[in-house]
Amino acid sequence: MKRLPPLSLVLLSIAPLSAADFQSDQPAEFARCVPQGSKVERLATDFTFVEGPVWIKEGGYLVFSDIPKDELRRWSPSGGVTVFRQPSRNANGNTIGLTGRLLTCEHSGRRVALLEKDGTLKTLVDAFEGRKLNSPNDAVVKSDGTVWFTDPEYGLKTNPTTKKKEGKEQPGNFVYRHDPRTGRTTAVVRDFDQPNGLAFSPDEKLLYVADSGTPKHIRVFSVRGDGTLDGGRVFCTLDQGVPDGIRVDQDGRLWSSSGDGVQIFAPDGRRIGRILVPESAANLCFGGPDGRTLFITARKSLYAVKTAVRGAGR
Ligand code: MG
Repeated sequence: MKRLPPLSLVLLSIAPLSAADFQSDQPAEFARCVPQGSKVERLATDFTFVEGPVWIKEGGYLVFSDIPKDELRRWSPSGGVTVFRQPSRNANGNTIGLTGRLLTCEHSGRRVALLEKDGTLKTLVDAFEGRKLNSPNDAVVKSDGTVWFTDPEYGLKTNPTTKKKEGKEQPGNFVYRHDPRTGRTTAVVRDFDQPNGLAFSPDEKLLYVADSGTPKHIRVFSVRGDGTLDGGRVFCTLDQGVPDGIRVDQDGRLWSSSGDGVQIFAPDGRRIGRILVPESAANLCFGGPDGRTLFITARKSLYAVKTAVRGAGR
């Protein structure tokens, strides 16, 4: 006798999520990412260009950057949007270090800055081999405390005559690993056009890095025990916009910002579906009291959507 599919699968196939907010390529798998009834909600708008969201568990609020406005903002369910730090030296990506301190990539500061618990702002890294960084974009912290960040040239001004980036000191746009214990910074990948978002797999054996330059793709590397990388094949390519910020969920799926919102990919690189956002998204993060809210920074607005999964890592 032919076995019938479980009732839940039958229901999923006839009751897709709201077509306005979502599009699934693999409906059953998409339902494991975004629960039935979820809606894309706009939390705030009228920003200039928002990026770098990070959820601060201790305080129960979100920090994110308005890059051209030179401000870090804070959003909480009760307090709405307030200023977190101004000026921010055109802050972009934010992440949390092992001891709960906020790490911020600064475009005009040309550094990764560390906010001490007492409010002091320090330089974690601002140079490689004696030359200034370009404009650090995004960062992620591994469970051993090392800080991995990308350094494309978006934050440097373009000379109108030569079309070259002014003040660029590095010979390329590299991905770096910084070890706070030794103070040593290493370029772990040198062949990107514009390296941007980056994220580890749940077991930290893989590192995904987005290239928002000409390739518009995300590559995946094996992470060796000594902190070097191997491989680097193309994991997926976006069909809308560019991959900027990326996150990995607890089950190893990759969530990438895109021209149409957020695209979710299975660990095998096949697209599971899309969260459609009215503005082009630049970055995203998991957060909220239960870790199951996805915050999306998209041009002038901040959006949120309930998810069925949490982000990987701490
Ligand atoms: Mg970015």
